[in-house]
Amino acid sequence: MPVWYCRVCGLDYDESPWGPDNQSPDYSICHCCGVEFGYEDYTPDSTRRYRAEWLANGASWFYPKVKPANWQQAAQLRQVPELYR
Ligand SMILES: [Zn+2]
Repeated sequence: MPVWYCRVCGLDYDESPWGPDNQSPDYSICHCCGVEFGYEDYTPDSTRRYRAEWLANGASWFYPKVKPANWQQAAQLRQVPELYR
């Protein structure tokens, strides 16, 4: 069961890349939007800026090989945590 959703694109993760305390980012890269956790998603503002840029550039997957065949961009974006929308 997913426990964490990307602040930029809403992709679900089994484990938070921000650590159990939500304060310790591991600086890994989101498979979908390519955000570096702990960097561009540090504040709601920086997160929104990164998302706008990602969407403007066609919302492509950072790792296209793991993109689901039936990917639903709008549905995934609805999973973005409220604070970062
Ligand atoms: Zn993402």
